[in-house]
Amino acid sequence: MSNGIVIFEDDEKVAILTGIKRPSSNPKTGAMLQLSTIVKAVDPVTAHKTNQDKLICGECIHRKNSSCYVNLGQSVLQMYRAYKNGSYTKLDFNNRAVYIQQLNELGKLALIRLGAYGDCSFIPNFILTELMRYSTGVTGYTHQFFTSEKDTHRAFMISAESKNEALQAHKLNRRTFRVTHDIDDLLDNEIVCPNMNNTKITCSNCLLCDGRKLGKNIVVQVHGVNKNKFKEIPIYKH
Ligand code: SF4
Repeated sequence: MSNGIVIFEDDEKVAILTGIKRPSSNPKTGAMLQLSTIVKAVDPVTAHKTNQDKLICGECIHRKNSSCYVNLGQSVLQMYRAYKNGSYTKLDFNNRAVYIQQLNELGKLALIRLGAYGDCSFIPNFILTELMRYSTGVTGYTHQFFTSEKDTHRAFMISAESKNEALQAHKLNRRTFRVTHDIDDLLDNEIVCPNMNNTKITCSNCLLCDGRKLGKNIVVQVHGVNKNKFKEIPIYKH
C-alpha cells in the first residue's frame, strides 16, 4: 500500500489521505493521518499564482492575502507530483458499497486531521462521515462558513479571523478556531491552544479541535511562513 490514498476526486480537485504507512512527523499535530485537497490541473504553486487554488480554498482570506501557513513548495508540491506520477492508490469510486467500506476501513481506529492543505469542506460530507465513522479522533477546520451557502460538516471548527467572526459562529452553535496577533485578548469562552505552552500536547493527544465536541473555542497566535501578511478582519461583513 502507498503512503497516500486518493479518497475523492472530480474534474477539478483531488483529496489525498497521507500517513498510511509512515505517520506524519509534524511536531504540532503528532502522528495523525492527514487529509489534503489539491487542484488537479496544475501544481500547487502555480495554482496559487493563477488563483486556481480557489477551487480548494474558496474565499479563505489567507489564500487572498498569501498569508497561508502552508509552504506550497515543499510537501504539497511533493504530494502533487506523487499523485501525477501515479504513486497513490485510489479507492473504488464506482462501487458505492465497496467505496464506503474502504473509507470505514481507512479511518478505523485512526486519528485524522481534516485539512493539512486545502479546505476539506470541498469534499462531499458523506465521504468525511464515512471516513470518520470508526476513527479514534478527528481535528478539522473550514474557512468557508462565512462565505459559502454550503452546509459545512459539524466536525469542522469554524476558522475565524476576528472576535466578531467568532461571535457570529457561536450564535449559530459552532465552535471556532481563531488566529490572532494578541493571545492575551480572549473572549470568555475561548482558550489558547494548549500546544502553545506545552509542546508535549499535540493535536493527536488533545483532540479539542473536533467541532462536534462541546467545549471552549480555540485561539492560536498567528504562525507559519507568511505570518507577517496576516491581518485580522476588524468588522464582520455578510
Ligand atoms: S487545541 Fe488541541 S487539537 Fe486544537 S490545534 Fe491546539 S493542540 Fe491541536
